[in-house]
Amino acid sequence: MKFRFLGTCAAEGIPALWCRCDNCRRSRELGGRALRTRSQALIDDTLLIDFPSDTYKHFLDNRLDLTNVETCIITHNHSDHLYPTDFSMLAPGFSHVQDGYHLSVFGTDKVGEKVAPVMGNLEKQGLAHFTEIKPFETFSAGKYTITALPSIHDPNAGPVFYMISDGEKTVLYAHDTHFFHDDVWAYFKEHRVHFDMVSLDCTNACLPLTYVGHMGLAENVQVREKMLSEGYADEKTVFVCNHFSHNGISVVYDDFVPLAAERGFRVSYDGMILEI
Ligand SMILES: [Zn+2]
Ligand SMILES: [Zn+2]
Ligand SMILES: [Zn+2]
Repeated sequence: MKFRFLGTCAAEGIPALWCRCDNCRRSRELGGRALRTRSQALIDDTLLIDFPSDTYKHFLDNRLDLTNVETCIITHNHSDHLYPTDFSMLAPGFSHVQDGYHLSVFGTDKVGEKVAPVMGNLEKQGLAHFTEIKPFETFSAGKYTITALPSIHDPNAGPVFYMISDGEKTVLYAHDTHFFHDDVWAYFKEHRVHFDMVSLDCTNACLPLTYVGHMGLAENVQVREKMLSEGYADEKTVFVCNHFSHNGISVVYDDFVPLAAERGFRVSYDGMILEI
């Protein structure tokens, strides 16, 4: 499985628009991996996770051909994960796609409400279809088996995170969420899951947790330790900190990499590819 991190930031990006904070200033000076766009990932060039406004930048920077993408799964309706207007660029006149091209989009009811204005036209033309899913539902998309898990995040955003398997490898893409709900841990236990890669919400980096809905490095460490001790991961599992905010402490890429490495984590950057 080829897992590509296209965008690795929360809503404001790093550097953030209008921001003069130290993290944004230093990231702007450093450039390269210190620059982070809004959240999106791609598996094997065919399965897209989230659809932010930076999809267009990701498409340019990574020279993507989006007509290879058959499925798009959306975590929730916040703007750093979903910008529905660009789905309408699939309509005739805006795009010329190969005969038979079809995009399947999955998300919860709150995502459905947000994509409805653009999805109706695409569905009529047979170009796309939205399927509503619920937490703990497992569904198939191409060769992938995907399970939506409930996030502890803004309930008005219809948040879920995803466990994705291609039959050989299984990855967990856990954004945006607080430390997992007890029901999620019970699900892992009941289904005897095993992950080859785990990407965890690290919005706060080294900032102590002050609100519910995201994690930082300390909570990522707790998730990793619990997964290792309960057998959902092993020494080969790749753990990644991902989805950062400029408000985090020690969040600038060069500062954060050694802190995360000491605790067994890789640090995502825009364009990072992992062969799982
Ligand atoms: Zn987010
Ligand atoms: Zn800033
Ligand atoms: Zn969010």
